[in-house]
Amino acid sequence: MALTKKPETRPAPASWGMAARGVPWEYAAAPESTDHIRIEREYGLFINNAFSPARPKATFDVINPATEEVLSKVARASKADVNRAVQAARQAHDTTWSRLPGSERAKYLYRIARIMQERSREFAVVETMNSGKPIRESRDVDVPLAAAHFFYYAGWADKLEYAFPNRRPTSLGVAAQIIPWNFPLLMLAWKIAPALACGNTVILKPASTTPLTAYLFADVVRQAELPPGVVNIITGPGEIGMELVRHPLVDKVAFTGSTAVGKLIARAIAGTHKKATLELGGKAANIVFDDAPLDQAIEGIINGIYFNQGEVCCAGSRLFVQESVYEPLLDKLKDRLSTLRVGDPLDKNTDVGAINSAGQLAKIAELVESGIAEGAEIFQPDCVLPDKGFFFRPTLFTGVSQSHRIAQEEIFGPVLSVLTFRTPEEAVEKANNTPYGLSAGVWTEKGSRIFKMIGAMKAGVVWANTFNRFDPTSPFGGYKESGYGREGGRHGLGAYLRLDGAA
Ligand code: NDP
Repeated sequence: MALTKKPETRPAPASWGMAARGVPWEYAAAPESTDHIRIEREYGLFINNAFSPARPKATFDVINPATEEVLSKVARASKADVNRAVQAARQAHDTTWSRLPGSERAKYLYRIARIMQERSREFAVVETMNSGKPIRESRDVDVPLAAAHFFYYAGWADKLEYAFPNRRPTSLGVAAQIIPWNFPLLMLAWKIAPALACGNTVILKPASTTPLTAYLFADVVRQAELPPGVVNIITGPGEIGMELVRHPLVDKVAFTGSTAVGKLIARAIAGTHKKATLELGGKAANIVFDDAPLDQAIEGIINGIYFNQGEVCCAGSRLFVQESVYEPLLDKLKDRLSTLRVGDPLDKNTDVGAINSAGQLAKIAELVESGIAEGAEIFQPDCVLPDKGFFFRPTLFTGVSQSHRIAQEEIFGPVLSVLTFRTPEEAVEKANNTPYGLSAGVWTEKGSRIFKMIGAMKAGVVWANTFNRFDPTSPFGGYKESGYGREGGRHGLGAYLRLDGAA
């Protein structure tokens, strides 16, 4: 078919080596359809496999951060509702779930995984509408990985004795699980799949801005015919999360979120029998040596910080570049940044979607202002942001020093701080100069250097010649103020089991 209109072209960036040739620029919009999804006008609390209003009845609005439109109303749980949910989970644990053979629990987990796959388009669209993340990411990363976690832990459910030889693994009991808004469905899967595989029952509290895929998951729980009370989902503000943490019938607390709230939780359960895993913030170093394949590293840097609008605890927010390749790398990076498409998260071409909330947008803007005020040099591509919704331009700072707030604090947005180093020792020292220790990246062609760097860096995960790779078989967690405990892999089972003496 002949094109009726010549596509708009722009001069190719210099670092592409195409002289001044024009490259086609405009993509036709490719919005994902929303016809196949159904968002209820109102959601109640999910307790004992039934939705019920909060008691006393109270709700709050859930919006689409890309349009600021109200998507639904959800129940605002009270202290009495927390008790109802914990009692349901306790009963289900003591009478049913913990008594089932592992092979039976596995069947339910497999069923959940398969239903999630079958309903993956529905999950992806609802996740994107509620969180602001690009549909490309929810479709290709969040939803498949969430299903993969259920498949993976289904496989372990009847093999716990083999995971921990000479021990007698038993469930901990009732798990209170509090998750953030950056990966709502994926964090749900990280929490619920290992807990159920090990025979625990759960009460999950999603973040108040992003509860919709959790309530869609509640529907999957019913479809999979899980016994009532095994999975309970309640919504409400942070104080309701704290009621859950403090409830005496809770045996395990699993939290992902800010370091500030993590510390409150650690204080609240100190001196009790409760076990905890805390997955908190990060300020990852992404280190590029002069022998690294630069074009590949550029993609890794972009993925490291602009994936999910940079709202990622393990985001590579501090880039350390060896001085000898600083200039060519920066040129390429700026050119690549200028090609990112920012806008409608439901458009399949979009690379950077909406920031999750007005509050988070304000926090990002404030930290960016501080970077400018402290003397760093800002670069932002020239892109048009939508009129409505919470959007922020992908941003890069050069001339950053170690003491700048943008090099120290977790921004949780699409903002990269670029610093330099000369020797591997200097890179390690600078990389470790942070209160956090969640993740890091190394780019070099030398295997021996990779191993040396991995050993020297205080980070729970270190990626080599890649970034932001996740897999259910691989443990994830931090050092220092990034929290403690591991999720994922065999390690993730240990966090939900009591491991008594010899079997
Ligand atoms: P929070 O830590 O406040 O929220 C995470 C979860 O904890 C949400 O479900 C929240 O509920 C709940 N919560 C809030 N306060 C309490 C409390 N006192 N007791 C128990 N649960 C509580 O993160 P924010 O959303 O406020 O984000 C602030 C900053 O935290 C971000 O800018 C980012 O830097 C960092 N962050 C890090 C994350 C990570 O993955 N490591 C994830 C999210 C944020 P509710 O939503 O109802 O407030």
